[in-house]
Amino acid sequence: MPPVLDIRTLVLIYVGISLGLAVVLIYLWSVQRNYPPAKDWAIGSLMVAIGLFLFALRQEAPVFLSEILSNLFLLPGFMLFNFGIVKAAGRTPPLNFGIAVCVLANAILVWFVLGAPNYPAAVLTQTLVLVTLNLYTAHVCLKAKTAKGNHTFTLLASLFLILVMAGVWRVAGGVFGLTFSFSPTLPRLFWVATSLIAFPMITVLLTLHTSQRLQEEIHAQARRDILTNAYNRRAFTEFADLEWSRSSRHGYPLSILAVDIDHFKDFNDQHGHQTGDAALIQVSRAAQAALRLNDVWCRYGGEEFVALLPNTAMNQAMAVAERLRLSVESTMIDSPQGALGVSVSIGVAQRLPTHASLSEVLAISDAALYKAKAAGRNRVVGDGGENPSAPRIV
Ligand code: GH3
Ligand code: MG
Ligand code: MG
Repeated sequence: MPPVLDIRTLVLIYVGISLGLAVVLIYLWSVQRNYPPAKDWAIGSLMVAIGLFLFALRQEAPVFLSEILSNLFLLPGFMLFNFGIVKAAGRTPPLNFGIAVCVLANAILVWFVLGAPNYPAAVLTQTLVLVTLNLYTAHVCLKAKTAKGNHTFTLLASLFLILVMAGVWRVAGGVFGLTFSFSPTLPRLFWVATSLIAFPMITVLLTLHTSQRLQEEIHAQARRDILTNAYNRRAFTEFADLEWSRSSRHGYPLSILAVDIDHFKDFNDQHGHQTGDAALIQVSRAAQAALRLNDVWCRYGGEEFVALLPNTAMNQAMAVAERLRLSVESTMIDSPQGALGVSVSIGVAQRLPTHASLSEVLAISDAALYKAKAAGRNRVVGDGGENPSAPRIV
């Protein structure tokens, strides 16, 4: 009985599907122009589709066209496609090494097709390159850092591992004859059938990844101030809620710095709004440089900033505030009138067990800031609230 699906029919179906996938990925590239991996997927998948089409002509076309030219498209096509996924996973693919492997593999393939014809050796060469490429891609996907609950790269890794298994069986069965008493053509059928199922799934996952990435970008932008790139008030509220409950649960200290640029209205009046904007950016940058990784720096409004210091008691918070003040004081703002200096006043407050909410602590830090302004500006004032052990006003 003839097989229901012979390898040629499968390859023809695969050609059609690859062309369709290439069209989808070219469209994805056209709407995601500024995302480099999308370009790699589009061009890579188109090269694969062309390579498969040439491969499908093996009964009609001369051997150099179907065997040699098809591999000239297939190997670099798959490499570009997979390297795009490597980029999307946050790694830099070894492009030069990949090109060298493609050139070498194609030279070996030409030799086994024209020089000393040996079909199994040609299959072995091609499959080994693809298996290594897929194994490397699966490894990178498994290591990709993604948001909690986002399993796109894990699914991609599983699909590449399935392709690796199909490739290994193709080599074992098709080249070395280890067919486990199945038909000797089964490994080749399995190899094509697996690709036929895996690549549409990979394409869907890449489309999903691109939209997830866009969503994460929009979410991240919505939490940042446009001018200074510090967190905005909305993000601050989220962080503050999180840190408040952590501090309540574990009983660790939590402090706040209220930071305000001194005489900023005069600065704007003297040097213009644009220089004022440049000053805001540089002050924010200098302040952030003085903070630690876990501290949250936010533009609270106008020229007022707030720093949330988790796991920090009053005396440490005072030291951080002084470091921040010095960092801003030593920063020079570029302007048409030359380098200008600015200073900030800082009010410091620590959360106490008696405080019902963060807004109470914020009000205390604000009151301390007011005292710093009244005392002559460019200084740090701490208010330990009702905690007798904490320094009251410094
Ligand atoms: P003090 O030392 O008491 O804090 O005096 P001040 O002049 O800094 O305080 P005031 O609150 O009176 O002025 C704040 C100024 O900050 C007024 C406003 O024009 C300026 N400002 C707020 N947001 C921006 C901004 O985005 N860009 C620029 N260039 N200026 C801003
Ligand atoms: Mg001010
Ligand atoms: Mg102000």
